[in-house]
Amino acid sequence: MKFCSQCGQGNKDDATFCIQCGASLEPERTPGAVAAPPAGPVSPPPSGEVAPPGPGVVPPGAIPPPPGVPGLQAPGAPPGVPYGAVPARPMGRQQPTEGMAVASLVLSIASFIVCPVVPAILGLIFGYLSLTKIEESLGALGGSELARAGIIISWINIGITVLVGIFILVVAIVASTQ
Ligand SMILES: [Zn+2]
Repeated sequence: MKFCSQCGQGNKDDATFCIQCGASLEPERTPGAVAAPPAGPVSPPPSGEVAPPGPGVVPPGAIPPPPGVPGLQAPGAPPGVPYGAVPARPMGRQQPTEGMAVASLVLSIASFIVCPVVPAILGLIFGYLSLTKIEESLGALGGSELARAGIIISWINIGITVLVGIFILVVAIVASTQ
């Protein structure tokens, strides 16, 4: 019995690596004991030639611990791969844009191009309905920016129309009194 210098595990006398932690047991030996590999049947190569190592010859420290040593390889491999893909999803979430939000923005713009007020009022209605829907979807629907833009542009169009209407009315009144 010889004991591992790393973990104290008892190993067979001819063991090369600790069965518990895989640490090399070779340096523990005295120089005299190291001389012959314990495997036995492999004859030493003729002098001057380097023969490929036989199955029983293990140069100390050169080869990693034999596979199957518990606790050595398990922690390194699996983490990282499965976890990498998961956090990416909530960040780049793709919500379908709420349809009425788009309609609201289009109508609000149309109120400046096609005719005033009427599309703007529709744009306001669609915009507010859309915001409510997006809010109730709890994140499943997107496009609240479009709906807000539609509402703002619609209000601007209605405001300008009202101001222009008042201006025309005033001019008409002034003109008729002369
Ligand atoms: Zn050990």
